[in-house]
Amino acid sequence: VAAKLKSSGLLRSQALIGGKWVDSYDGKTIKVYNPATGEVITDVACMGGKETNDAISSAYDAFSSWSKLTAAERSKCLRKWYDLIMAHKEELGQLMTLEQGKPLKEAIGEVSYGAGFIEFSAEEAKRIYGDIIPSPLADRRLFVLKQPVGVVGAITPWNFPLAMITRKVGPALACGCTVVIKPSELTPLTALAAAELSLQAGIPPGVVNVVMGNASDIGDALLASPQVRKLTFTGSTMVGKKLMAGAAATVKKVSLELGGNAPCIVFDDADLEVALKGALATKFRNTGQTCVCANRILVQEGIYEKFANAFAKAVQSMKVGDGFSEGVEQGPLINEAAVKKVESFVEDATSKGAKVLVGGKRHSLGMTFYEPTVVTGVNSEMLLSKEEVFGPVAPLLKFKTEEEAIHMANDTNAGLAAYIFSTNIQRAWRVTEALEYGIVGVNEGLVSTEVAPFGGVKQSGLGREGSKYGLDEYLEMKYVCLGSM
Ligand code: ADP
Repeated sequence: VAAKLKSSGLLRSQALIGGKWVDSYDGKTIKVYNPATGEVITDVACMGGKETNDAISSAYDAFSSWSKLTAAERSKCLRKWYDLIMAHKEELGQLMTLEQGKPLKEAIGEVSYGAGFIEFSAEEAKRIYGDIIPSPLADRRLFVLKQPVGVVGAITPWNFPLAMITRKVGPALACGCTVVIKPSELTPLTALAAAELSLQAGIPPGVVNVVMGNASDIGDALLASPQVRKLTFTGSTMVGKKLMAGAAATVKKVSLELGGNAPCIVFDDADLEVALKGALATKFRNTGQTCVCANRILVQEGIYEKFANAFAKAVQSMKVGDGFSEGVEQGPLINEAAVKKVESFVEDATSKGAKVLVGGKRHSLGMTFYEPTVVTGVNSEMLLSKEEVFGPVAPLLKFKTEEEAIHMANDTNAGLAAYIFSTNIQRAWRVTEALEYGIVGVNEGLVSTEVAPFGGVKQSGLGREGSKYGLDEYLEMKYVCLGSM
């Protein structure tokens, strides 16, 4: 697969600065691994602070012309980029499975989903309207202009190697901003391929820059630069907090998409089939490695046994394996540390009285494969309900009343996504309003789309991505008072 990708020009190993593919200045490289086999896919340039500063300068220079293009011109470039990504859907999907491990079908699905943010941004670029405000004084006219914030630093994780980039870069470019992207060192290849396609689409040099390597050096350079006016980050809450604090020195605009601890609440009055399908989809997508994956499944006592048994049966039948193998639904975890975390969470739960219904250990395939797992009798004292497991483990918790479910669901510092399964519309609405979450799926487990606002409350983050609201993150308002009329 790697050889085929190399010949198509989509397997890049250098960073992109000012439209040029470059090595790190001291020649350092890092290895990118296939998590399913442990094999090295390729070495990529390992960039640091100096290279990042040059990428920022390139983005800063490109900003003056890119931001002055008409919205229609920027829209055309974005549309072309979207078309090229879709035309290379299969190759990009293969590259993603290779470096990230998700099943090929899911990877190709992410390419379409990720490209959707670019298509939507291309369309929305033409609708960045300002405002006219009726003046309180007869000799004045008041206006609001919307202008791009400037150079954007975008730091992204490994779980969605394409979509986490496009949902930032699409709206940023639509607004007239230029970007320096730092993809995860675990999955830089999809990002580099997408950047190559941005050049082919005619997006001018310097508008999109990609540097990967030493995360804290790159991050520090982005934070220190007064030219970087906006930092957008998706990743762990711990790193997000550090970046937010670091951004204070230059008072950057900040968007953060951090960890979740999603409750999935199944009421006695749920349609069992719908709840099973939804809970499975939200828990096991990307082998449980998404920030909107159900982290706790709260089931009302009347339906608990029935749900647990049917759920366990479905989980047991999931096919685990290399993402390139036919019919595989669950790939490997991203690395050894991820497996160790999952193991320690399950151990913590069983030592406190929880029971493993299905799975509960490493998969016989070895590497970083872990068995799809269901644990029952979980309570709020266990790590499984307090923190994000980020793996294929579904903890079931029992509750009696609606009030208790709401309390359990909100009893966390996270507030990204929540799910409710109930056929009672009054209850569904009541609970939706009471949940301290940025996203609520009602009788649905898969809710992400480029047309809707994605983001969290409490310590899950700041700002929204996707939808018309997602563009606001890359715009400043300028109030203009025209006097002496
Ligand atoms: P995850 O658990 O998803 O890997 P991280 O927060 O560790 O979450 O990583 C998300 C992104 O943040 C990655 O691109 C990673 O390299 C980057 N990152 C990690 N530490 C820092 C840092 N100190 N400064 C800037 N970026 C960082």
